[in-house]
Amino acid sequence: MIQDLYPHVYHNEYHPHEPDQNDFVLFYDETMLYCKSYDRFFTVKEAGEQDLTYLFSIDDRSYYLGLQIPENGYAVSSAGIRTMAAAENRFAAITGRQLAGWYHDHRFCGVCGHTMRHHPVERALECTHCGKIVYPTIMPAVIVGVLNEKDQLLVTQYAGRNQNHYALVAGFAEIGETIEETVRREVKEETGLDVSDITYFKCQPWSFSDTLLFGFWCKADSSQPVVPDEQELKLAKWADREELECPDDSISLTSHMIRMYCKGEKHYGS
Ligand SMILES: [Zn+2]
Repeated sequence: MIQDLYPHVYHNEYHPHEPDQNDFVLFYDETMLYCKSYDRFFTVKEAGEQDLTYLFSIDDRSYYLGLQIPENGYAVSSAGIRTMAAAENRFAAITGRQLAGWYHDHRFCGVCGHTMRHHPVERALECTHCGKIVYPTIMPAVIVGVLNEKDQLLVTQYAGRNQNHYALVAGFAEIGETIEETVRREVKEETGLDVSDITYFKCQPWSFSDTLLFGFWCKADSSQPVVPDEQELKLAKWADREELECPDDSISLTSHMIRMYCKGEKHYGS
């Protein structure tokens, strides 16, 4: 998945330090990442003189956020980030974008409106006037693989998107519920099904939407009617292995789980 960088190692400890000339600088606007060329970030030297914000390190290389996009920047969309060849570049690009968005959206205090500054010791922003501290926004959400006793997988398609590939039930946690209750509620809301045997599978940081995704498998009896929530979904149905197209990659937790089912690595009983 997108966070699997082995043999590279991601370090997100907050230790701001002076950049080396060969460290990388990431630039973003609202929709694009700007690189030196595709799959190649600007170095500090190439970025030129400007204020840099420390983001994280991968192996011994540090990554910084720059705000003055160089004129010759090569624009890469979110879809372009997903297809970058080097796993560490994909991950750095999207993780940096989440941080860049958070810094951008918290330039001013939500309490008193004064400017925010970097907290001296942790990844946080602190109001220069009232002292309000805010931490990075990470929203917990679930991806749910529901199987029935015929060993079919519950698949969905989102409403309002011009895409025909299948997804799984997914949704954000609400305040006051456990993550297992999120699973139960989201499946019920989106498809009308009651589920059982909720089992945690894997987790994935999904910076495309500021989320931390929790993948679960669970079971539902096929005698229940599937009733898609028409506001969210244009389709929800049980599918056999034969009718599903096995996703090409396992970048996302959703494609990873659908691939597992397609390849027969996941069954109703196991
Ligand atoms: Zn304030």
